[in-house]
Amino acid sequence: MSLALAPQFATRVRRDEPLSRHTSWHVGGPAEVFFNPRDREDLASFLRAAPADVPISWIGLGSNLLVRDGGLRGIVISTHGTLDALERLSETTVRGEAGLACARVARQCIKWGLGPAEFFAGIPGTLGGALAMNAGAFGGETWAHVRALETIDRRGRARRREPSEYRVGYREVIAPEPDEWFISAELTFERRPGTHAGEVQKLLEQRKASQPIGEWSCGSVFTNPPGDHAARLIEAAGLKGFRIGDASVSQKHANFIINHGEASAADLEHLIGHVRDTVARVHGVALHPEVRIVGVP
Ligand SMILES: Cc1cc2nc3c(=O)[nH]c(=O)nc-3n(C[C@H](O)[C@H](O)[C@H](O)COP(=O)(O)OP(=O)(O)OC[C@H]3O[C@@H](n4cnc5c(N)ncnc54)[C@H](O)[C@@H]3O)c2cc1C
Repeated sequence: MSLALAPQFATRVRRDEPLSRHTSWHVGGPAEVFFNPRDREDLASFLRAAPADVPISWIGLGSNLLVRDGGLRGIVISTHGTLDALERLSETTVRGEAGLACARVARQCIKWGLGPAEFFAGIPGTLGGALAMNAGAFGGETWAHVRALETIDRRGRARRREPSEYRVGYREVIAPEPDEWFISAELTFERRPGTHAGEVQKLLEQRKASQPIGEWSCGSVFTNPPGDHAARLIEAAGLKGFRIGDASVSQKHANFIINHGEASAADLEHLIGHVRDTVARVHGVALHPEVRIVGVP
């Protein structure tokens, strides 16, 4: 039976939307219902009207998601291309909405003479995704800058939260309540009037030299274990170039897995499992996926 929605939304959602169109690995089965709100009021009305027992998932730019081939049941809310305002609240504080691209945070903060925000330029996701993951690069981390958050729950109720209400670690954020998502965050930076766009360019070039940028990936597949690098362990286990179907361990950076065009989510997941098992056997180290694996096989 198809998921029933209030009439004002029934014609605005996309049903059976292939999530391969919305993930950087270009894989993933369909979302039963896919909704892209116009603004936060539209989002709140949609959530208020959504059936209470239907699962709800969120997607930003899908740059850290492995959606399985069977897709996602229930509702998928996409913030991409919407909820993307960025404003300056004070000398050193800005507020960004969840759908804002991290690269824009970096560029605009440089224009405002604020920093260090350059690290955001290397994260090909949204601010909402960066908040959910505590994304970081080049020594910078999202939550080091969070001063306040605005969330919305499945009944469409918005609330302001303090960072101290969350348990935040390396690529891990534990929220005080389930089924509550970020709609905006206030971020603080220092006055850095000397920073210029060339510095972002330098960081991006450094990244391009060591990572397979431009190929279909999700960035680092595994988090780094304490005191070591997942890429080093994977390379030392002889896995660079190891292939399942059209998915392989990158020759350039062993913690990246590439979809060469025709890989399925199952190929990628099998390869992730093979890398994890081989590293455990060879080095005795348990690797944990950084990528979020969701959906029905
Ligand atoms: C080439 C490449 C390089 C990368 N380099 C880095 C890097 O240097 N550092 C790094 O940390 N990551 C990196 N990543 C991974 C990825 O870009 C980050 O994890 C990013 O923060 C994910 O954002 P997103 O919008 O794409 O989130 P998605 O992948 O769409 O979602 C990730 C998770 O966040 C949740 N989520 C999304 N929006 C919200 C919201 N508004 N409220 C609550 N939960 C939400 C989703 O449900 C999901 O669980 C890289 C990825 C690629 C492809």
